[in-house]
Amino acid sequence: MADYIIFNCPKCGLVRYAREGQKTARCPGCNYQIRIDPEKIRVLVKVRDVRDAIEIVKAYKARLKS
Ligand SMILES: [Zn+2]
Repeated sequence: MADYIIFNCPKCGLVRYAREGQKTARCPGCNYQIRIDPEKIRVLVKVRDVRDAIEIVKAYKARLKS
């Protein structure tokens, strides 16, 4: 049972995380109100610890910059 999901914004592709079960999340990249629906978004990873979620998001962002 995972507690946090890491996913791409469907509009701009920015990687972010949210608590599993959360309904919506605002994208910090394009300000799009993302509906957290497994059929609408692409979930990259699920983790149990918010610190892991933050580290994974950082790793994805670092990879995109290079
Ligand atoms: Zn976005």
